[in-house]
Amino acid sequence: MSDAQFFDLAVLGGGPGGYVAALRAAQLGAKVALVEKDRLGGTCLHRGCIPTKALLRSAEALVEARAASEFGVTVGEAASDFEAMMAWKERTVAHQAEELQRLIAWRKIEVLAGEGRLTGRGSILIGEESVAARRVIVATGSLPAHLPIAGADLEGVLTSDQMLELREIPGSLVVIGAGVVGCEFACLFAALGSRVTVLEVLPRILPGIDEELARRFRQMLRGQGIAMHTGAEVQEIASEDGRLRVVFAVGGEEKREVADRVLMAVGHRPCSDRLGEAGLALKDGAVVVDEALETGVEGVYAVGDVTGLYMLAHVASYQGIIAAENSLGGRRTADYRGVPKCVYTSPEVASVGLSEEEARDQGIAHKVSRFPFSAVARAQILGQAVGLVKLVCEEASGIVLGVHILGPRATDIIGEGVLAVRMGATAQDLAHTMHAHPTLPEGIYEAAWGIIDSPFHLRRV
Ligand code: NAD
Repeated sequence: MSDAQFFDLAVLGGGPGGYVAALRAAQLGAKVALVEKDRLGGTCLHRGCIPTKALLRSAEALVEARAASEFGVTVGEAASDFEAMMAWKERTVAHQAEELQRLIAWRKIEVLAGEGRLTGRGSILIGEESVAARRVIVATGSLPAHLPIAGADLEGVLTSDQMLELREIPGSLVVIGAGVVGCEFACLFAALGSRVTVLEVLPRILPGIDEELARRFRQMLRGQGIAMHTGAEVQEIASEDGRLRVVFAVGGEEKREVADRVLMAVGHRPCSDRLGEAGLALKDGAVVVDEALETGVEGVYAVGDVTGLYMLAHVASYQGIIAAENSLGGRRTADYRGVPKCVYTSPEVASVGLSEEEARDQGIAHKVSRFPFSAVARAQILGQAVGLVKLVCEEASGIVLGVHILGPRATDIIGEGVLAVRMGATAQDLAHTMHAHPTLPEGIYEAAWGIIDSPFHLRRV
Protein backbone atom coordinates (compact mmCIF):
# COMPACT_ATOMS: atom_id res chain seq x y z
CA MET A 1 0.00 0.00 0.00
CA SER A 2 1.41 3.44 -0.90
CA ASP A 3 1.33 6.33 1.59
CA ALA A 4 -2.01 7.61 0.40
CA GLN A 5 -4.37 5.83 -1.92
CA PHE A 6 -7.55 7.13 -3.40
CA PHE A 7 -10.70 5.05 -3.79
CA ASP A 8 -14.26 5.72 -4.82
CA LEU A 9 -15.36 3.83 -1.73
CA ALA A 10 -13.60 2.53 1.37
CA VAL A 11 -15.44 -0.01 3.50
CA LEU A 12 -14.41 -0.44 7.10
CA GLY A 13 -15.06 -4.03 8.19
CA GLY A 14 -15.35 -7.19 6.08
CA GLY A 15 -18.39 -8.93 7.60
CA PRO A 16 -21.66 -9.56 5.72
CA GLY A 17 -22.46 -5.84 5.88
CA GLY A 18 -19.09 -4.61 4.65
CA TYR A 19 -18.10 -7.25 2.12
CA VAL A 20 -21.52 -7.24 0.43
CA ALA A 21 -21.36 -3.43 0.24
CA ALA A 22 -17.92 -3.78 -1.39
CA LEU A 23 -19.24 -6.36 -3.87
CA ARG A 24 -22.18 -4.14 -4.83
CA ALA A 25 -19.98 -1.09 -5.33
CA ALA A 26 -17.56 -3.15 -7.45
CA GLN A 27 -20.50 -4.44 -9.53
CA LEU A 28 -21.33 -0.80 -10.20
CA GLY A 29 -17.76 -0.18 -11.43
CA ALA A 30 -16.33 1.60 -8.39
CA LYS A 31 -12.72 1.34 -7.20
CA VAL A 32 -13.20 -0.18 -3.75
CA ALA A 33 -11.02 -0.75 -0.69
CA LEU A 34 -12.11 -3.19 2.00
CA VAL A 35 -10.35 -2.73 5.33
CA GLU A 36 -10.32 -5.78 7.63
CA LYS A 37 -8.28 -6.38 10.77
CA ASP A 38 -9.01 -10.10 11.04
CA ARG A 39 -10.52 -12.40 8.42
CA LEU A 40 -13.02 -11.56 5.69
CA GLY A 41 -16.49 -12.81 6.58
CA GLY A 42 -16.73 -11.32 10.06
CA THR A 43 -18.67 -12.71 12.99
CA CYS A 44 -21.22 -14.44 10.75
CA LEU A 45 -18.69 -16.59 8.93
CA HIS A 46 -16.12 -17.18 11.66
CA ARG A 47 -17.94 -17.00 15.00
CA GLY A 48 -21.67 -16.89 14.28
CA CYS A 49 -24.14 -18.06 11.66
CA ILE A 50 -21.97 -20.50 9.73
CA PRO A 51 -20.07 -22.41 12.44
CA THR A 52 -23.09 -22.67 14.75
CA LYS A 53 -25.33 -23.96 11.98
CA ALA A 54 -22.66 -26.47 10.94
CA LEU A 55 -22.60 -27.81 14.51
CA LEU A 56 -26.39 -27.82 14.71
CA ARG A 57 -26.37 -29.88 11.51
CA SER A 58 -24.13 -32.41 13.28
CA ALA A 59 -26.58 -32.57 16.18
CA GLU A 60 -29.45 -33.01 13.73
CA ALA A 61 -27.62 -35.88 12.01
CA LEU A 62 -27.14 -37.53 15.41
CA VAL A 63 -30.81 -37.20 16.30
CA GLU A 64 -31.80 -38.53 12.87
CA ALA A 65 -29.45 -41.48 13.13
CA ARG A 66 -30.99 -42.35 16.50
CA ALA A 67 -34.47 -42.21 14.99
CA ALA A 68 -33.49 -44.09 11.80
CA SER A 69 -35.33 -47.26 12.82
CA GLU A 70 -38.59 -45.29 12.58
CA PHE A 71 -37.94 -45.10 8.83
CA GLY A 72 -36.97 -48.75 8.57
CA VAL A 73 -33.23 -48.11 8.58
CA THR A 74 -30.96 -50.00 10.92
CA VAL A 75 -27.71 -48.32 11.95
CA GLY A 76 -25.31 -49.22 14.72
CA GLU A 77 -25.52 -47.24 17.91
CA ALA A 78 -25.25 -43.58 16.92
CA ALA A 79 -22.81 -41.54 18.98
CA SER A 80 -21.27 -38.10 18.79
CA ASP A 81 -17.60 -37.57 17.99
CA PHE A 82 -17.11 -34.00 19.13
CA GLU A 83 -13.64 -33.62 17.66
CA ALA A 84 -14.94 -34.71 14.26
CA MET A 85 -17.95 -32.41 14.61
CA MET A 86 -15.63 -29.48 15.28
CA ALA A 87 -13.54 -30.50 12.27
CA TRP A 88 -16.71 -30.52 10.13
CA LYS A 89 -17.53 -27.04 11.40
CA GLU A 90 -14.01 -25.83 10.61
CA ARG A 91 -14.08 -27.34 7.10
CA THR A 92 -17.41 -25.66 6.41
CA VAL A 93 -16.10 -22.28 7.55
CA ALA A 94 -12.80 -22.70 5.67
CA HIS A 95 -14.61 -23.52 2.45
CA GLN A 96 -16.84 -20.46 2.71
CA ALA A 97 -13.88 -18.26 3.66
CA GLU A 98 -11.83 -19.40 0.65
CA GLU A 99 -14.75 -18.83 -1.71
CA LEU A 100 -15.29 -15.37 -0.28
CA GLN A 101 -11.63 -14.42 -0.76
CA ARG A 102 -11.79 -15.59 -4.38
CA LEU A 103 -14.95 -13.60 -4.95
CA ILE A 104 -13.45 -10.42 -3.54
CA ALA A 105 -10.27 -10.84 -5.62
CA TRP A 106 -12.31 -11.59 -8.76
CA ARG A 107 -14.21 -8.33 -8.27
CA LYS A 108 -10.82 -6.55 -7.98
CA ILE A 109 -11.63 -5.20 -4.54
CA GLU A 110 -8.47 -4.15 -2.74
CA VAL A 111 -8.31 -5.75 0.70
CA LEU A 112 -6.31 -3.66 3.13
CA ALA A 113 -5.28 -5.73 6.13
CA GLY A 114 -5.13 -4.00 9.48
CA GLU A 115 -7.22 -2.11 11.97
CA GLY A 116 -8.67 0.90 10.23
CA ARG A 117 -9.74 4.03 12.01
CA LEU A 118 -12.10 6.57 10.54
CA THR A 119 -10.45 9.93 11.07
CA GLY A 120 -12.96 12.09 9.29
CA ARG A 121 -14.92 12.46 6.09
CA GLY A 122 -13.35 10.22 3.43
CA SER A 123 -10.27 9.35 5.43
CA ILE A 124 -9.16 6.17 7.16
CA LEU A 125 -5.93 5.47 8.96
CA ILE A 126 -4.48 1.96 9.03
CA GLY A 127 -1.52 2.06 11.36
CA GLU A 128 0.62 4.85 9.92
CA GLU A 129 -0.89 4.69 6.47
CA SER A 130 -3.79 6.76 5.29
CA VAL A 131 -6.44 5.81 2.80
CA ALA A 132 -8.57 8.43 1.14
CA ALA A 133 -11.93 7.73 -0.45
CA ARG A 134 -14.77 9.73 -1.89
CA ARG A 135 -17.19 7.80 0.32
CA VAL A 136 -16.87 5.53 3.35
CA ILE A 137 -19.10 2.76 4.69
CA VAL A 138 -18.59 1.81 8.33
CA ALA A 139 -19.43 -1.86 8.97
CA THR A 140 -17.49 -2.67 12.12
CA GLY A 141 -20.04 -5.10 13.60
CA SER A 142 -20.61 -6.04 17.23
CA LEU A 143 -19.16 -8.10 20.07
CA PRO A 144 -20.80 -10.30 22.72
CA ALA A 145 -21.89 -8.30 25.77
CA HIS A 146 -20.93 -9.26 29.33
CA LEU A 147 -22.99 -9.06 32.48
CA PRO A 148 -21.39 -6.80 35.08
CA ILE A 149 -21.60 -9.42 37.86
CA ALA A 150 -19.05 -11.04 40.13
CA GLY A 151 -17.44 -14.07 38.51
CA ALA A 152 -18.31 -13.10 34.94
CA ASP A 153 -14.61 -13.32 34.08
CA LEU A 154 -13.99 -16.73 35.67
CA GLU A 155 -12.46 -19.45 33.54
CA GLY A 156 -15.25 -21.52 32.07
CA VAL A 157 -17.64 -18.58 31.71
CA LEU A 158 -17.74 -18.35 27.94
CA THR A 159 -19.10 -16.22 25.14
CA SER A 160 -20.54 -17.88 22.05
CA ASP A 161 -17.15 -17.28 20.35
CA GLN A 162 -15.43 -19.39 22.99
CA MET A 163 -18.13 -22.08 22.92
CA LEU A 164 -17.14 -22.68 19.30
CA GLU A 165 -13.60 -23.53 20.45
CA LEU A 166 -14.60 -26.12 23.08
CA ARG A 167 -12.65 -29.37 22.86
CA GLU A 168 -15.17 -31.52 24.69
CA ILE A 169 -18.88 -31.61 25.36
CA PRO A 170 -19.54 -30.15 28.82
CA GLY A 171 -21.35 -32.53 31.15
CA SER A 172 -23.49 -29.63 32.28
CA LEU A 173 -24.06 -26.13 30.97
CA VAL A 174 -25.82 -23.05 32.32
CA VAL A 175 -26.91 -20.63 29.61
CA ILE A 176 -27.56 -17.04 30.66
CA GLY A 177 -30.02 -15.45 28.23
CA ALA A 178 -32.79 -17.19 26.27
CA GLY A 179 -32.40 -15.13 23.12
CA VAL A 180 -31.29 -16.56 19.80
CA VAL A 181 -27.76 -17.52 20.84
CA GLY A 182 -28.91 -18.96 24.17
CA CYS A 183 -31.63 -21.13 22.64
CA GLU A 184 -29.46 -22.37 19.75
CA PHE A 185 -26.61 -23.45 22.03
CA ALA A 186 -29.05 -24.94 24.56
CA CYS A 187 -30.56 -27.17 21.84
CA LEU A 188 -27.15 -28.06 20.44
CA PHE A 189 -25.62 -29.21 23.70
CA ALA A 190 -28.80 -30.85 24.98
CA ALA A 191 -28.80 -32.96 21.80
CA LEU A 192 -25.15 -33.84 22.44
CA GLY A 193 -25.97 -35.01 25.95
CA SER A 194 -25.15 -32.02 28.21
CA ARG A 195 -27.47 -31.26 31.10
CA VAL A 196 -28.64 -27.75 30.16
CA THR A 197 -30.25 -25.04 32.32
CA VAL A 198 -31.28 -21.71 30.79
CA LEU A 199 -31.72 -18.53 32.84
CA GLU A 200 -33.66 -15.65 31.29
CA VAL A 201 -34.29 -12.36 33.05
CA LEU A 202 -37.51 -11.58 31.16
CA PRO A 203 -40.79 -13.37 31.92
CA ARG A 204 -40.60 -15.02 28.47
CA ILE A 205 -38.01 -16.49 26.11
CA LEU A 206 -37.03 -15.38 22.59
CA PRO A 207 -37.97 -11.70 22.83
CA GLY A 208 -39.02 -10.39 19.42
CA ILE A 209 -40.77 -13.66 18.47
CA ASP A 210 -44.57 -14.03 18.64
CA GLU A 211 -45.36 -14.79 22.29
CA GLU A 212 -47.58 -17.82 21.66
CA LEU A 213 -44.92 -19.48 19.52
CA ALA A 214 -42.24 -18.72 22.11
CA ARG A 215 -44.45 -20.28 24.81
CA ARG A 216 -45.05 -23.43 22.77
CA PHE A 217 -41.35 -23.62 21.92
CA ARG A 218 -40.49 -23.40 25.59
CA GLN A 219 -42.65 -26.47 26.27
CA MET A 220 -40.79 -28.31 23.52
CA LEU A 221 -37.44 -27.41 25.08
CA ARG A 222 -38.68 -28.90 28.33
CA GLY A 223 -39.46 -32.06 26.37
CA GLN A 224 -35.80 -32.13 25.32
CA GLY A 225 -34.77 -32.10 28.95
CA ILE A 226 -33.72 -28.44 29.00
CA ALA A 227 -34.49 -26.73 32.32
CA MET A 228 -35.67 -23.16 31.93
CA HIS A 229 -36.06 -20.38 34.49
CA THR A 230 -37.64 -17.10 33.37
CA GLY A 231 -37.70 -13.97 35.53
CA ALA A 232 -34.26 -15.15 36.69
CA GLU A 233 -31.90 -12.47 37.93
CA VAL A 234 -28.37 -13.75 37.90
CA GLN A 235 -26.45 -12.42 40.88
CA GLU A 236 -23.03 -14.00 40.78
CA ILE A 237 -20.90 -16.82 39.48
CA ALA A 238 -18.35 -18.51 41.72
CA SER A 239 -15.94 -21.45 41.54
CA GLU A 240 -17.01 -24.59 43.37
CA ASP A 241 -14.79 -27.68 43.32
CA GLY A 242 -13.52 -26.96 39.82
CA ARG A 243 -17.02 -26.22 38.56
CA LEU A 244 -19.10 -23.05 38.40
CA ARG A 245 -21.91 -22.09 40.74
CA VAL A 246 -24.43 -19.66 39.32
CA VAL A 247 -26.54 -17.88 41.91
CA PHE A 248 -29.81 -16.36 40.72
CA ALA A 249 -33.12 -15.15 42.11
CA VAL A 250 -36.58 -15.96 40.84
CA GLY A 251 -39.42 -14.00 42.41
CA GLY A 252 -37.19 -13.06 45.35
CA GLU A 253 -36.22 -16.68 46.04
CA GLU A 254 -32.51 -17.43 45.78
CA LYS A 255 -31.53 -20.45 43.67
CA ARG A 256 -28.25 -21.93 42.49
CA GLU A 257 -27.11 -24.18 39.72
CA VAL A 258 -23.71 -25.83 39.45
CA ALA A 259 -22.30 -26.58 36.01
CA ASP A 260 -19.07 -27.30 34.13
CA ARG A 261 -19.48 -24.34 31.81
CA VAL A 262 -21.53 -21.14 31.69
CA LEU A 263 -22.49 -19.48 28.42
CA MET A 264 -23.07 -15.75 28.55
CA ALA A 265 -25.62 -15.01 25.81
CA VAL A 266 -27.08 -11.67 26.85
CA GLY A 267 -26.81 -9.79 23.57
CA HIS A 268 -24.21 -8.00 21.49
CA ARG A 269 -22.88 -4.44 21.68
CA PRO A 270 -21.93 -2.37 18.63
CA CYS A 271 -18.18 -1.94 17.88
CA SER A 272 -18.24 1.83 17.75
CA ASP A 273 -15.07 2.71 19.71
CA ARG A 274 -13.56 5.99 18.51
CA LEU A 275 -16.19 6.51 15.82
CA GLY A 276 -17.51 9.44 17.84
CA GLU A 277 -14.12 11.15 17.42
CA ALA A 278 -14.68 11.16 13.67
CA GLY A 279 -17.90 13.10 14.22
CA LEU A 280 -20.40 10.23 14.01
CA ALA A 281 -23.40 10.55 16.31
CA LEU A 282 -23.87 7.58 18.65
CA LYS A 283 -26.97 6.44 20.54
CA ASP A 284 -26.50 3.74 23.20
CA GLY A 285 -23.19 2.95 21.53
CA ALA A 286 -24.72 2.47 18.06
CA VAL A 287 -24.01 4.69 15.07
CA VAL A 288 -27.04 6.78 14.16
CA VAL A 289 -28.01 6.58 10.47
CA ASP A 290 -30.86 7.96 8.39
CA GLU A 291 -33.12 5.90 6.11
CA ALA A 292 -30.49 6.04 3.38
CA LEU A 293 -27.93 4.61 5.86
CA GLU A 294 -25.97 7.86 5.89
CA THR A 295 -24.51 9.06 9.18
CA GLY A 296 -24.53 12.69 10.31
CA VAL A 297 -21.19 13.10 8.49
CA GLU A 298 -21.84 13.61 4.78
CA GLY A 299 -20.49 10.81 2.61
CA VAL A 300 -20.03 8.42 5.55
CA TYR A 301 -22.52 5.56 5.74
CA ALA A 302 -22.93 2.83 8.34
CA VAL A 303 -24.48 -0.63 8.03
CA GLY A 304 -24.98 -3.80 10.04
CA ASP A 305 -24.63 -4.44 13.77
CA VAL A 306 -22.77 -1.17 14.39
CA THR A 307 -26.06 0.62 13.64
CA GLY A 308 -27.69 -1.46 16.42
CA LEU A 309 -30.92 -1.76 14.43
CA TYR A 310 -31.40 -5.51 14.05
CA MET A 311 -28.03 -7.23 14.47
CA LEU A 312 -28.77 -9.85 11.84
CA ALA A 313 -26.40 -10.82 9.02
CA HIS A 314 -29.08 -10.54 6.33
CA VAL A 315 -30.07 -7.07 7.53
CA ALA A 316 -26.40 -6.04 7.36
CA SER A 317 -26.09 -7.29 3.77
CA TYR A 318 -29.36 -5.64 2.77
CA GLN A 319 -28.18 -2.35 4.25
CA GLY A 320 -24.74 -2.82 2.66
CA ILE A 321 -26.24 -2.97 -0.82
CA ILE A 322 -28.32 0.14 -0.24
CA ALA A 323 -25.44 2.08 1.30
CA ALA A 324 -23.13 1.09 -1.57
CA GLU A 325 -25.65 2.27 -4.15
CA ASN A 326 -26.32 5.50 -2.28
CA SER A 327 -22.61 6.18 -1.84
CA LEU A 328 -22.31 6.08 -5.63
CA GLY A 329 -25.19 8.45 -6.29
CA GLY A 330 -28.25 6.26 -5.65
CA ARG A 331 -31.26 7.30 -3.60
CA ARG A 332 -32.61 4.15 -1.99
CA THR A 333 -34.02 3.93 1.50
CA ALA A 334 -34.11 0.88 3.73
CA ASP A 335 -37.46 -0.83 4.26
CA TYR A 336 -37.58 -3.07 7.33
CA ARG A 337 -41.11 -4.43 6.92
CA GLY A 338 -39.84 -7.79 5.73
CA VAL A 339 -37.06 -8.70 8.18
CA PRO A 340 -36.99 -12.46 8.75
CA LYS A 341 -36.00 -13.57 12.25
CA CYS A 342 -34.74 -17.15 12.31
CA VAL A 343 -33.80 -19.43 15.17
CA TYR A 344 -32.04 -22.64 14.10
CA THR A 345 -33.14 -24.75 17.01
CA SER A 346 -34.97 -28.05 17.06
CA PRO A 347 -37.63 -27.43 15.91
CA GLU A 348 -36.82 -24.19 14.14
CA VAL A 349 -38.58 -20.89 14.76
CA ALA A 350 -38.99 -18.19 12.13
CA SER A 351 -40.97 -15.02 11.97
CA VAL A 352 -41.59 -11.96 9.82
CA GLY A 353 -43.74 -8.88 10.27
CA LEU A 354 -46.08 -8.12 13.15
CA SER A 355 -46.68 -10.61 15.93
CA GLU A 356 -50.22 -11.02 17.22
CA GLU A 357 -49.43 -8.88 20.28
CA GLU A 358 -47.83 -6.14 18.13
CA ALA A 359 -50.94 -5.98 15.92
CA ARG A 360 -53.08 -5.77 19.07
CA ASP A 361 -50.85 -3.14 20.74
CA GLN A 362 -50.92 -1.02 17.57
CA GLY A 363 -54.72 -1.14 17.58
CA ILE A 364 -54.92 -2.86 14.19
CA ALA A 365 -58.10 -4.87 13.67
CA HIS A 366 -56.69 -8.25 12.70
CA LYS A 367 -57.49 -11.92 12.16
CA VAL A 368 -55.31 -14.84 13.18
CA SER A 369 -55.17 -18.27 11.57
CA ARG A 370 -53.19 -21.27 12.82
CA PHE A 371 -52.40 -24.46 10.98
CA PRO A 372 -50.58 -27.36 12.66
CA PHE A 373 -47.77 -29.29 10.97
CA SER A 374 -49.46 -32.48 12.23
CA ALA A 375 -51.87 -31.92 9.29
CA VAL A 376 -49.12 -31.24 6.71
CA ALA A 377 -48.27 -34.42 4.78
CA ARG A 378 -44.64 -33.48 4.17
CA ALA A 379 -44.06 -32.92 7.89
CA GLN A 380 -45.49 -36.39 8.59
CA ILE A 381 -43.22 -37.88 5.93
CA LEU A 382 -40.20 -36.22 7.56
CA GLY A 383 -41.26 -37.58 10.94
CA GLN A 384 -41.29 -33.98 12.19
CA ALA A 385 -44.98 -33.18 12.44
CA VAL A 386 -44.67 -30.70 15.30
CA GLY A 387 -45.45 -27.02 15.61
CA LEU A 388 -47.60 -24.72 13.52
CA VAL A 389 -47.88 -21.85 11.09
CA LYS A 390 -49.57 -18.75 12.42
CA LEU A 391 -50.76 -16.01 10.10
CA VAL A 392 -51.70 -12.51 11.28
CA CYS A 393 -53.71 -10.52 8.71
CA GLU A 394 -55.43 -7.17 8.65
CA GLU A 395 -59.12 -7.90 9.21
CA ALA A 396 -60.74 -5.79 6.49
CA SER A 397 -58.22 -6.18 3.66
CA GLY A 398 -56.70 -9.58 4.50
CA ILE A 399 -53.23 -8.03 4.01
CA VAL A 400 -50.61 -10.29 5.60
CA LEU A 401 -49.13 -8.45 8.57
CA GLY A 402 -47.06 -11.28 10.02
CA VAL A 403 -46.11 -14.92 9.46
CA HIS A 404 -44.82 -16.98 12.37
CA ILE A 405 -43.62 -20.54 12.08
CA LEU A 406 -42.58 -23.10 14.66
CA GLY A 407 -41.68 -26.39 13.06
CA PRO A 408 -39.53 -28.27 10.56
CA ARG A 409 -37.41 -26.07 8.27
CA ALA A 410 -39.26 -22.97 9.49
CA THR A 411 -36.19 -20.87 8.58
CA ASP A 412 -36.48 -21.92 4.92
CA ILE A 413 -40.26 -21.73 4.66
CA ILE A 414 -40.36 -18.19 6.06
CA GLY A 415 -39.14 -16.93 2.66
CA GLU A 416 -42.70 -17.07 1.36
CA GLY A 417 -43.89 -15.04 4.35
CA VAL A 418 -41.13 -12.47 3.83
CA LEU A 419 -42.21 -11.94 0.24
CA ALA A 420 -45.87 -11.73 1.26
CA VAL A 421 -45.20 -9.07 3.90
CA ARG A 422 -42.78 -7.15 1.67
CA MET A 423 -45.18 -7.12 -1.31
CA GLY A 424 -48.29 -6.34 0.74
CA ALA A 425 -49.88 -9.64 -0.33
CA THR A 426 -53.25 -10.70 1.06
CA ALA A 427 -54.32 -14.04 2.53
CA GLN A 428 -56.29 -14.51 -0.68
CA ASP A 429 -53.12 -14.06 -2.75
CA LEU A 430 -51.49 -16.85 -0.74
CA ALA A 431 -54.56 -19.11 -0.82
CA HIS A 432 -55.01 -18.65 -4.57
CA THR A 433 -51.35 -19.44 -5.25
CA MET A 434 -50.63 -23.04 -6.14
CA HIS A 435 -48.35 -24.74 -3.61
CA ALA A 436 -46.44 -27.88 -4.54
CA HIS A 437 -47.62 -31.04 -2.81
CA PRO A 438 -46.31 -32.52 -0.60
CA THR A 439 -44.21 -29.65 0.77
CA LEU A 440 -43.89 -27.82 4.07
CA PRO A 441 -45.07 -24.42 2.71
CA GLU A 442 -48.52 -26.00 2.41
CA GLY A 443 -48.76 -25.05 6.08
CA ILE A 444 -48.77 -21.36 5.03
CA TYR A 445 -51.26 -22.08 2.25
CA GLU A 446 -53.66 -23.84 4.61
CA ALA A 447 -53.32 -21.07 7.21
CA ALA A 448 -54.16 -18.54 4.48
CA TRP A 449 -57.33 -20.50 3.67
CA GLY A 450 -58.08 -20.29 7.38
CA ILE A 451 -58.22 -16.50 7.02
CA ILE A 452 -60.47 -16.35 3.95
CA ASP A 453 -62.63 -19.39 4.76
CA SER A 454 -61.31 -22.54 6.45
CA PRO A 455 -58.34 -24.87 5.89
CA PHE A 456 -58.88 -28.07 3.87
CA HIS A 457 -56.93 -30.69 5.73
CA LEU A 458 -58.25 -30.03 9.19
CA ARG A 459 -61.52 -31.17 10.67
CA ARG A 460 -61.56 -28.79 13.59
CA VAL A 461 -59.85 -25.42 13.87
P1 NAD B 1 -30.47 -11.49 22.14
O1 NAD B 1 -30.63 -10.04 22.32
O2 NAD B 1 -31.18 -12.19 21.04
O3 NAD B 1 -30.86 -12.26 23.48
C1 NAD B 1 -30.28 -11.96 24.73
C2 NAD B 1 -31.18 -12.52 25.81
O4 NAD B 1 -30.54 -12.38 27.05
C3 NAD B 1 -32.52 -11.82 25.89
O5 NAD B 1 -33.55 -12.76 25.97
C4 NAD B 1 -32.37 -11.01 27.18
O6 NAD B 1 -33.59 -10.76 27.80
C5 NAD B 1 -31.48 -11.93 27.99
N1 NAD B 1 -30.77 -11.26 29.08
C6 NAD B 1 -30.24 -10.02 29.09
N2 NAD B 1 -29.69 -9.77 30.29
C7 NAD B 1 -29.88 -10.87 31.05
C8 NAD B 1 -29.56 -11.23 32.38
N3 NAD B 1 -28.93 -10.36 33.17
N4 NAD B 1 -29.88 -12.46 32.84
C9 NAD B 1 -30.54 -13.32 32.03
N5 NAD B 1 -30.90 -13.04 30.78
C10 NAD B 1 -30.55 -11.82 30.28
O7 NAD B 1 -28.88 -11.70 22.02
P2 NAD B 1 -28.05 -13.02 21.75
O8 NAD B 1 -28.91 -14.21 21.77
O9 NAD B 1 -26.88 -12.95 22.66
O10 NAD B 1 -27.56 -12.79 20.27
C11 NAD B 1 -26.69 -11.71 19.97
C12 NAD B 1 -27.02 -11.12 18.63
O11 NAD B 1 -26.67 -12.02 17.60
C13 NAD B 1 -28.48 -10.83 18.52
O12 NAD B 1 -28.65 -9.57 17.97
C14 NAD B 1 -28.99 -11.90 17.60
O13 NAD B 1 -30.06 -11.46 16.80
C15 NAD B 1 -27.78 -12.26 16.76
N6 NAD B 1 -27.85 -13.67 16.41
C16 NAD B 1 -28.73 -14.06 15.49
C17 NAD B 1 -28.86 -15.42 15.20
C18 NAD B 1 -29.86 -15.86 14.18
O14 NAD B 1 -30.39 -15.01 13.48
N7 NAD B 1 -30.16 -17.14 14.09
C19 NAD B 1 -28.10 -16.35 15.88
C20 NAD B 1 -27.23 -15.91 16.83
C21 NAD B 1 -27.11 -14.55 17.09
